[in-house]
Amino acid sequence: TGGADYRPMTESTLAPYLAGFSEVAAILDGVPQDWKVTEVGDGNLNLVFIVRGPKGALIVKQALPYVRLVGDAWPLPLDRSFFESQALITEDAAAPGLVPKVVLFDAMQALVVMEFLTPHIIMRKGLIDGVEFPRFAATLSEFMAQSLFKTSDLYLPAAEKKKQMAVFCANTELCRITEDLVFTDPYRAAKLNHWTSPQLDDIALELRADGPLKAAAQAMKLKFLCHAEALVHGDLHSGSIMATSTDVRVIDPEFAFFGPMGFDVGALIGNLILAYLSQIGHEDEKGGRDGYRAWILKQMVDVWTLFSARFVELWSTEGKGDAFTAELFADAASRAALAEEQARYMRALFEDTLGFAGCKMIRRILGLAHVADFESIADKDVRASGERRALRLGRDLVVNRARFANIDAVAAAVVAAD
Ligand code: ADP
Ligand code: MG
Ligand code: MG
Ligand code: MG
Repeated sequence: TGGADYRPMTESTLAPYLAGFSEVAAILDGVPQDWKVTEVGDGNLNLVFIVRGPKGALIVKQALPYVRLVGDAWPLPLDRSFFESQALITEDAAAPGLVPKVVLFDAMQALVVMEFLTPHIIMRKGLIDGVEFPRFAATLSEFMAQSLFKTSDLYLPAAEKKKQMAVFCANTELCRITEDLVFTDPYRAAKLNHWTSPQLDDIALELRADGPLKAAAQAMKLKFLCHAEALVHGDLHSGSIMATSTDVRVIDPEFAFFGPMGFDVGALIGNLILAYLSQIGHEDEKGGRDGYRAWILKQMVDVWTLFSARFVELWSTEGKGDAFTAELFADAASRAALAEEQARYMRALFEDTLGFAGCKMIRRILGLAHVADFESIADKDVRASGERRALRLGRDLVVNRARFANIDAVAAAVVAAD
């Protein structure tokens, strides 16, 4: 990806470049001179343009050869746009209609042309503004159940799964970012770390000296490194979800690789908890967001409950992969034993989910990349009070993940932490 002619596009060079692709011109209509291009990227890594023609509009996402958040001192391979387009295509096949449709992947310019989602907003922004998205839990549970199940050994023949794994195995440098920024840097004095200071100086120091937490976080890192269970999105936070009151979509799977399923479910749940604990900074008067807090908490419970039920249902009705060979479970007694094994599997996935959720929460407060939920709180004392609660709860989720009986116990811990 990224040929000799690669160059970062600008609002003026993009339209003439795209004119060469008939599938793009067919959707936009008219001539390139009529196409209106605006750069809208708000992410950490890439250029994102909206291109509007007389008839339709498209999104163009182009990889930059460095981390946008940090600058050109931190190079990053362009082939992540290949992995993003491949993941979008695989996810759309597993869970139709829940990601933007890919119109074109151009390896030379490391860019993906895709469906423009409108009037969708980034869910994280909605969570800060107190917006409810009625389709959230149903859509994300379906997305995760389908995309994880259908790329796992429970569904795919072994040879097919290995073929897909081989493709995504090369996404090593984006995995490396997660390995460092999520699992390691928050627990050592890394240069890029920052936090609300001086308010959180004591707890940042305390967690860096917390042996049980560091050991548990490294156990989660080992799972991330070697549990190639399914094609995970790899960055499934509320900033990778775009929604309206009637539609919810998942975007931005450039971190996709074959990893532990709980990494996606945990990213989602951890970010919902961050949204909950940040409400203290977004209410006009004390308790002003109580109704919204309850909505967020219900989403967390519903998304796990719906996801786990759907996953087991898919396993029971479409489990034709090489794991749990179907013909072994033809009789009633064997089927009952299979159901017990499925329950054990879901319990392990639940514990992984909590461990990854806790790691994700901690890294967003002590590590390099923070979340707008907290960053947008101007009063540093208020911000730090929510962040401190998130750090304590995050630690509890990582270290004591085996002690939470069920998702309701997690919800109770969130309420108690707030
Ligand atoms: P990054 O990998 O740099 O984080 P994203 O894929 O998250 O990039 O996109 C950055 C922003 O561009 C999103 O937050 C959203 O505002 C906008 N965006 C991305 N994809 C689409 C899309 N398909 N439709 C509408 N807006 C989009
Ligand atoms: Mg993004
Ligand atoms: Mg973004
Ligand atoms: Mg991204």
